[in-house]
Parts: sequence; structure tokens; C-alpha cells
Amino acid sequence: MTTKNPIERLTATRHEFGEHGGVNMSIEVSTAFTVMKPGTMPELFEGHKAAPEGCYLYGRHFNPTVYNLGRQLAAIEGTEAAYCAASGMAAISAAVLQLCNSGDHIVASNTVYGGTYALLHDFLPQKSCIETSFVDASDLAAVEAAITDKTKIIYAESISNPTLRVADIPALVALAHSRGLQLVIDNTFSPLILSPAALGADVVVHSMTKYINGASDIIAGAVCGSTEFIGSLMDLHTGPLMILGPTMDPSVASKISLRIPHLGLRMSEHARRAKLFAQNLDKLGLKVTYPGLDTHPDHQLMSKLHCPEYGYGGILTLDLGSVEKADALMDVLQNNYHFGFMAVSLGYFDTLMCCPGSSVSSEMTDEDLSLAGIGQGLVRISVGYTGTIEQRWGQLEGALRDIGAV
Ligand code: PLP
Repeated sequence: MTTKNPIERLTATRHEFGEHGGVNMSIEVSTAFTVMKPGTMPELFEGHKAAPEGCYLYGRHFNPTVYNLGRQLAAIEGTEAAYCAASGMAAISAAVLQLCNSGDHIVASNTVYGGTYALLHDFLPQKSCIETSFVDASDLAAVEAAITDKTKIIYAESISNPTLRVADIPALVALAHSRGLQLVIDNTFSPLILSPAALGADVVVHSMTKYINGASDIIAGAVCGSTEFIGSLMDLHTGPLMILGPTMDPSVASKISLRIPHLGLRMSEHARRAKLFAQNLDKLGLKVTYPGLDTHPDHQLMSKLHCPEYGYGGILTLDLGSVEKADALMDVLQNNYHFGFMAVSLGYFDTLMCCPGSSVSSEMTDEDLSLAGIGQGLVRISVGYTGTIEQRWGQLEGALRDIGAV
């Protein structure tokens, strides 16, 4: 299994100079690039000269600054290549559309981010006749049973949103490859913690809106995979990133690039605090879910797969049993204690709290919510690292007492 620290791959990639010897990479603002000889342009259009060899064509196709961030993502994920997109959903849609054609079939985990669920459950069947069967991805027999002769991919999140189940990536890889399928993993919840490609996944997608960026001020995504696959996303005729055009702005790529050097420090601190809160909540007898607790059903699995330096992630959930209790807790935490914010998203330096059943997972049908175990009283907490850990725990415990939960 992999315990190699992905930061070691990243440091070599980042050791590059800006255009004037700057310690940061330069921002290439041009949307069009010159060719020195007229014959080069047709060669570019015929695909004989690819951007990574130093010949750029047009900003929607390839931009050197965006490409540089892509190389950092590839280093983190241990893939041959990666490219960035305007959002996590753009990255997911591009990867799925490139791997599946009309009439194909997907087997997906039944707990995925609500936007991904809507893409697979509603959008793709209507717009392109690509159907998805949702199954409990921890039940390998159920995953296998859902595979048909039309299936092209198995899709799961490394740590599922919001149920925090950990995908058994090596087992899913073995199953997918034995049936000629590709495994696509959304690693948004666990950058650096888990390296799905090193465990055999074919394609890794990210919402960089979350931990990788870390400041809740940018929407961005990335697709990581083989050079051939990433190149195919930019194909002039059939590449979804090129044709549908969810292009990342180069200044966004530069901003995210400046936050990657402290991603490791941030992930460790998110995880350290989430683990302490989870252990304390558990001691109070509350229904807390966190992969770092040895009572979590996937604790042993995650302990085998993760890079220990970054722990078990920065997200925990607390099931308070009713929407009233959940709302009361979030209200008191935000408005009385200034513990964090009632907001969707995650991976921010401050704590973010939401009830997935009525927010980030509300795209799911009632039946699918209940099959996935997402109750209306479930609170998802993305644990931030501002303030002291003692101060924050005091606030959380105080709020739980105030609402009568303990
Ligand atoms: N994947 C996961 C696991 C998410 O939680 C989200 C958003 O919350 C996305 C993908 C979508 O990312 P974006 O909002 O950047 O499009």
C-alpha cells in the first residue's frame, strides 16, 4: 500500500523559476500564441505538435500557467499528467464524458456529492443516454452485480460526501480491471492523505475549490490521469475540456499554485483537530462519524491506505437525530460562539457546518438519502484551524450543553 508522502513528488516539480528568475511562476495572460513559421499552425491543428512540447495554440486549449498547476496536481497524485478546469463539476463531467459514450453505463457509489449525483442521476441520462446504477461501494458484491456489458466506469469518492465511508480503492481497481473497466475516484476530501492513482485508480478528479485552495474564494477543478487521457480531454473534435470550454483562468492557476506549498501543513492541522473533536464527541456519547476513530467501519482500511503524516481528514459528522437539534446546534455555534459558519463547502481555514440532507445532498431522492444513511439531523463539520484547539473545543462542548444534546 502507499505510505509515501506525495509532497516528495511535488517538491521536484515546483522547483521552477518564473520568467525573470522569479521564485514564483509567471502568469501567462495571452489567449493566443504566435508561431514562428506559417507551417507550424496547420501542424498544431492536426495535433502533430502538442502543447507540453512547448508549442501553445489558444488559451482554451492549453495555457502554460494552468498547465504548470496541472503538473503540480499530477505530482501530488502520482499520475503522468493532469489538467485544470473551471470547477470540480467541470472536471468530473469532462472525465465522465470522455470515458463514456451515449448508451454506456456507470456503476457509482450511492454516496457522492449532490452535484455529482445530479449529473449521473438526472443530467447524463437525459442529455446523452448514459445511465448510472448507484450501489453501496463498500459492498463489492453489489458493485460487481451492478456491472453490465455496457458498463465503462466505476465511480466513487475516496472518502464519501457526506457519509465518510472510505473507498477500498485496491479492491475496486481489481474488480474494475478484471471486467475491463476504468476506476474514477474523486479525491476532493483527501488530497495528500490518499493517493488513488498510486493505488491503481485510472483517473482522479478534484474539486480544488475545497482543501487544495483552502480559502473558499475560488471555484476550480482538476483531472489527473495518463498523458494520453489528459491529452484526449483537449482533442479539437471530441475533447470535453476543449469543446465544452470550462477553462481555468491563468490568474486563478497562479493563486492556487501559491497555496499548494502549505497544503501539507493545512491538511495535518485540519486532521489533528477533527480527530480530537471526534474523540471528545465520542466520549460524550454522541453519534459521531470520523474515519480516524477505531469504531469507524473503515478505520482499518484507511489506516492501511493513507499517508500517516496527514491523518484521517478534516471532516466529521454528528447525527443529532432531528433537523431541529441540528439547526439549533449550528445556530448557537455560529451566532453565540463564533465557532464557525453555517455554509456549504469544506476545506476552509474556518469551520463550516451544514445539514447535507437539506443542502449539499438535497439533489438526492428521499429514498436514495435514506439508503445512503443521510438523515435530516446529520451535521457535516469541516473543521477549520483558526483559534486554539482548546478554545474551539470549549465552544463546541458549550454549544452542545446549551442545546441539551449532552
Ligand atoms: N466533489 C466533491 C466531493 C464535492 O464536495 C464537490 C462540491 O462540494 C464537488 C466535487 C464539486 O466541486 P465544485 O463546486 O468545485 O464544482
